[in-house]
Amino acid sequence: MGGSIQLLTVRGISIRMHLTFPLILIWAMLQFGAFSGLGWSGALFGALATLLLFAIVVLHELGHSVAAQHYGVPVNEIVLLPIGGVAQLKYIPEKPIQEFVIAIAGPAVNIVLAVILYVLNRVFGVGGTLQDPTTMIFGFGQLNVDSMFNYIFTVNLFLAGFNLIPAFPMDGGRVLRALLASRMEYGRATAVAVSIGQSLAWLIGLWGFLNGGFFLILIAIFIYMGAGYEGQSVELRRVLGKLTVRQAYSRQAQTLAPNASLRDAIDRTLQSLQADFPICDGERLVGLLTNKQLVQALDRHPPETPVSAIMTRDVQPATPGDSLFDVQQRMTEQQLDAVPVVEGGRFVGLLTLRDVGEVFRIASTRPDLLTETART
Ligand SMILES: [Zn+2]
Repeated sequence: MGGSIQLLTVRGISIRMHLTFPLILIWAMLQFGAFSGLGWSGALFGALATLLLFAIVVLHELGHSVAAQHYGVPVNEIVLLPIGGVAQLKYIPEKPIQEFVIAIAGPAVNIVLAVILYVLNRVFGVGGTLQDPTTMIFGFGQLNVDSMFNYIFTVNLFLAGFNLIPAFPMDGGRVLRALLASRMEYGRATAVAVSIGQSLAWLIGLWGFLNGGFFLILIAIFIYMGAGYEGQSVELRRVLGKLTVRQAYSRQAQTLAPNASLRDAIDRTLQSLQADFPICDGERLVGLLTNKQLVQALDRHPPETPVSAIMTRDVQPATPGDSLFDVQQRMTEQQLDAVPVVEGGRFVGLLTLRDVGEVFRIASTRPDLLTETART
């Protein structure tokens, strides 16, 4: 991830800190120092506590990562952001038991840590009297061992509890989906988990609204949107995963010859529905001129410039037999609006995001109609 620096590597996973991270340290020093009236000793407590908090977050993310690696899922990196940590798994397995173990492994780390701390406290008296967790979260820590112990204990309880809220994008949402998916089809399990998550978000938001909890309302919005996003991405994979590029691409796409001018490209853009143009030498694809490239080129080049001077040459075309889901994912990753389609070395058409959107909507409602048109 851009804008982050590497801290260390554990089990081949690079642990990185985002450059905005120091902001949260400053915030914590203000919160624990200035706002609580404890001055510099409070600020120092805030800084130490926050560093420990993020060490615990790293352990939580390592819990997910080690479980994922156990199932052969590659983990790229763990990034620490001001809002928490993210372990970047290459993919999330659809097997319920695997998703369940990976999702629960993070909160399980916090529960184990909390139990260890509780035993240390009860048996050996470490940390003195356990305090009311709410006073710790809102930051009134004295700079001493007992206070820090209480803070760390509270943080582990909070992280376990918060992440186990049964709603996407929380770990609890994945746990819930995995449990449902062991009894029903994956897409259906996701849909049920999404509605449960969104209903919970409404309840949390309403609670926040009635009690003047602005922070709770923000959390509710975050959960509501995260749940919707997970539902959409699973639906997209379910629908597009069954289709191929052949069922979606435009056969009547217009092309330009390499020696066509930028002026020609503008004329075509205005006269057709098309914005991106494959550049073809006869039937052979030699490049792609995107609308963005065309507009940028007009700033610097005269309209008579040939498109071959501007176009992208290393285009990775799709073939009609490619999975539509795979190509759509690549278009999203590489921010492409259109991909040329090539069969047997011959240019046959263009797949645009609009084509993908159209076929997605039809396939979601009447997949039977789609198979008919695809045969022609
Ligand atoms: Zn987690």
